[in-house]
Amino acid sequence: MSSKFHNKSEIFPLPDTASGAPIFDSSELLRINRSLSKRIYELHNIFRISLELTSILDRKRLLFTYIVNVIGLLRASRAMLLLPDREQPDRLVPAISRGFGRRKHRDLQVDSRKLLPHLRNHPDAPWRLDSDFMQNSLAPVYNRLREMEIQVIAPLTNVGRLVGLVMIGGRVSHEAFSEEDFELLSLINNFFAVVLTNVNLVEELERLSITDGLTQLYNRRAFDQQLKKEIARGKRYGQPFTVVLMDIDHFKHYNDRNGHPAGDELLQQFAELLQRSVRETDIVARYGGEEFGIILVGVDDMGGQAFCRRLKQLITGYPFRHRETQPLGCLSASFGIASFPQDATEAAALLQCADRALYMAKHAGRNTMRTYQQSRRARRNRMNSFNIQVQG
Ligand code: GH3
Ligand code: MG
Ligand code: MG
Repeated sequence: MSSKFHNKSEIFPLPDTASGAPIFDSSELLRINRSLSKRIYELHNIFRISLELTSILDRKRLLFTYIVNVIGLLRASRAMLLLPDREQPDRLVPAISRGFGRRKHRDLQVDSRKLLPHLRNHPDAPWRLDSDFMQNSLAPVYNRLREMEIQVIAPLTNVGRLVGLVMIGGRVSHEAFSEEDFELLSLINNFFAVVLTNVNLVEELERLSITDGLTQLYNRRAFDQQLKKEIARGKRYGQPFTVVLMDIDHFKHYNDRNGHPAGDELLQQFAELLQRSVRETDIVARYGGEEFGIILVGVDDMGGQAFCRRLKQLITGYPFRHRETQPLGCLSASFGIASFPQDATEAAALLQCADRALYMAKHAGRNTMRTYQQSRRARRNRMNSFNIQVQG
């Protein structure tokens, strides 16, 4: 069998026969033994950390586990993880840090575009802060990073994409970081980048599953879930809330007259208007087609009517495109209002009440609102007058 090694002496050097002295003395062997033991221990640690990271799907726990392990593995004094900002993904901002005392450095920002040219050749190699490349690419924050006593910066990449940046302060023991430390950091970073990408994907899928694609509002599924939550909260704490179903008037006419894309645009504008009109704790959803559902938290039916009155005025006065082509001379909507616990105490029943009220609002000529109580009274009056007519 062929072997890379021709004889034993190439693997374990034999004593020099001329002088009789061994090539390795025992202290050298001990040193090699110690360094190999240390390496095995570190790799075992990497394996343990990787297993731990890959078992986490919760973002907060994942970031915490990563940062604590990076500090432990490198025996570093501090570390900070920066991730893309939600609104401006090119900006990397602090997501978690340890070892900076009270200062969290939340206002720190790094422009990731400056780092990209370097990533093509070295996608996961850590950089020393005092390198020329760092001084140039991080010029706007370079002095600040020095003040923060950062020594090493490492990119987190997955399939060539930068998903974050980790900044590491000096060793607790003040020893310099070695190339072996850099290797360990790259290993753990590679694992972490993959798990972080998975968590990002899971979160994005969750977001998509409850979002309406056209308007970016909650979809009907999310609305139903939120309504159930609100019912449970209402029953527990006795807090009232109001459900509004709002339907755009003569929307078919708008579509037919101005085209489907214009109709889509109108739905988006309505969504923005609604979102701007509610409080942060309220829920706005696209309930279906040109119908929207709103949950006004902590609001009774009087408050619900006041809200719809304001919204109605806002809609009729808003400069929507082609509004003059609508049958009523402007764009408008009709509203059905039902309140918990006054009208119903279960989700399906409450929605039915709001739907009946909306039907009455449409029936009354559109661009108006009805509460469930009003719709009930109107129905009773109709029945009474019908009975009087029949009996008379
Ligand atoms: P009403 O005043 O009685 O509510 O009349 P309407 O025309 O608003 O209601 P109708 O139910 O007759 O028509 C609703 C229209 O909404 C029909 C459908 O094609 C349109 N629609 C539903 N979803 C969308 C969408 O996502 N985009 C566009 N452009 N139109 C949509
Ligand atoms: Mg309609
Ligand atoms: Mg409709």
